[in-house]
Amino acid sequence: MTLNELNEQIINCRKCRLWQCARNAVPGEGPATAKVMFVGQNPGAEEDKTGRPFVGRAGKFLNKVLIENGINREEAFVTNVVKHVTPNNRKPFPDEVEACLPYLITQIKEIKPKIVVLMGAVAWQTPRLEGVEYVETYHPSAAMRFSKIRKKFEEDFAALKTRL
Ligand code: URA
Repeated sequence: MTLNELNEQIINCRKCRLWQCARNAVPGEGPATAKVMFVGQNPGAEEDKTGRPFVGRAGKFLNKVLIENGINREEAFVTNVVKHVTPNNRKPFPDEVEACLPYLITQIKEIKPKIVVLMGAVAWQTPRLEGVEYVETYHPSAAMRFSKIRKKFEEDFAALKTRL
């Protein structure tokens, strides 16, 4: 399956309740040949408006840390575990994660990145595929807010640069 075909499926997905309050699905973006993938939790309000991942406050912070570490966002694939916004940006329910995870797994299988960076506890639940390295770090929203977490987040991105 191509990423375009998968995007079609995600856009038309009715496997859980979340599509009902969403304006746009947010499948993710980036080249099909990306060496690195960044995975967050679920799109927020800005992402729902635009259909693009990490374009709100957390996205701006992520962009800043990427730039500081010489990682080109345009060369990465950026996505989320859950592809629709959640009501009031609540944490996705387990059945929503379960319904949506197959899309992420298919994205990883299609893109075959060297490294998948799992940002935050929801993303840490992603099943591991053989032949792919996984890095667990914090979610940019947490890193933005708490200085200890920010320090660790920034260290993780500096270490990532050396592995790409
Ligand atoms: N938070 C996420 O986890 N993903 C986004 O796309 C935006 C904010």
